[in-house]
Amino acid sequence: MKTFPTTKSELIKNLINFSETELSSYSKNRNFDFGHPHKNVSKLSPYLRTRFISEEEVLKITISRNNIKTIEKFIEEIFWRTYWRGWLESHPWIYEEYLNKSKNQLFPKKTGIKCFDYWKEELLDTGYLHNHSRMWFASIWIFTLGYSWQSGADFFKRNLLDFCPASNTLGWRWVAGLQTINKPYLATSENISYFTNGRFNPLNQLNEQVNLNYNDQINNHSFQYIEPKKFQLNKVDKLGIILNKNDLTLNRIFDNNKIAYDCCVYSIEHENKLIDEFNKNIIRDILKNNKNFDITENYNQIIDWLINKKVKNLILPYETVGNTILNNAKFKNKLKELDINYNFFLRDWDRNAFPYANKGFFKFKKNIPNLISLADI
Ligand SMILES: Cc1cc2nc3c(=O)[nH]c(=O)nc-3n(C[C@H](O)[C@H](O)[C@H](O)COP(=O)(O)OP(=O)(O)OC[C@H]3O[C@@H](n4cnc5c(N)ncnc54)[C@H](O)[C@@H]3O)c2cc1C
Repeated sequence: MKTFPTTKSELIKNLINFSETELSSYSKNRNFDFGHPHKNVSKLSPYLRTRFISEEEVLKITISRNNIKTIEKFIEEIFWRTYWRGWLESHPWIYEEYLNKSKNQLFPKKTGIKCFDYWKEELLDTGYLHNHSRMWFASIWIFTLGYSWQSGADFFKRNLLDFCPASNTLGWRWVAGLQTINKPYLATSENISYFTNGRFNPLNQLNEQVNLNYNDQINNHSFQYIEPKKFQLNKVDKLGIILNKNDLTLNRIFDNNKIAYDCCVYSIEHENKLIDEFNKNIIRDILKNNKNFDITENYNQIIDWLINKKVKNLILPYETVGNTILNNAKFKNKLKELDINYNFFLRDWDRNAFPYANKGFFKFKKNIPNLISLADI
């Protein structure tokens, strides 16, 4: 079986199998990186990132097969990405700053640190790394090899199948000691040896002590998060939906509300071959399962599609910080010219959670039971 299947049916089969065999011991085993095929974790991140499968779908499957109390840790992890995305919405300049500083940076070549070189190859070969290995890798990159966290975040951005601007940037900042100021994550050989089950032991190869002084860095300067306008799920005339890698199942909400629409998937080329192929294959599966959907591959094709379908009301996935695709002046002016109303649709999952995400995760997580009861699970 492929590590990252590209059909929904295989994905659901894998998730059911994971729910029934691994999930009850997830909280005990999740920090171990036993290597490929990473059976003890879900490997859902590339699908959640694109919402090829939604958070609600995942929780429906997992909760119905387990006692909710025994899978609390897993549910919490699902909410970590929601939290990071919400946090970045109220701290957008952090992503801008990262982008400015990530250009023209240096990357390490072969380092002689076996685990690090292995993880680098694993990432390039599969587009994935276990969470603990991402933490060790980032820590070694910054504190042992002396490269900038921005260059590391950029390296992940180019190579992860699940690249998420919020989880990646804030994950690197957290390791660097910038999210929780002056509290970096330091990889130690003992911890690596234990949690890789002895596969690696970089004894005396790592810098295991650092003193940081980031007292001038202020994170608590946050924007008041302003909720975007809510689209009323009534029947509207000439409705069009454009799916893209920000949300590949948004149309389901309209199906559930029995609202008719035309739909196209906007497929965007990726410079990394492995990621490009993965993205194209999951889109192929969507088109196979929805014979009436069209595909568009550039701006002009989107405009032609809107005109051909005579769309008058357009729904697009909401674009959170770092995920801008069509929320730009050129496109919006064109929509105005064509007399098309539009809404960048924020799912209730995010709408309910983002207002709680501007402080620490500890505060945020107290809302998880309420957020679950608000969700359609
Ligand atoms: C430096 C660094 C960079 C990262 N970059 C990304 C990224 O670009 N995209 C991304 O989706 N995750 C990122 N993560 C978070 C995490 O490593 C991955 O989500 C996780 O390893 C994915 O594997 P999984 O699906 O098997 O996780 P599981 O353990 O099975 O978790 C289930 C789901 O919960 C979410 N999740 C779990 N842990 C985290 C976390 N720490 N932060 C946010 N969401 C989490 C993911 O959506 C994941 O699919 C990063 C972490 C670090 C330390």
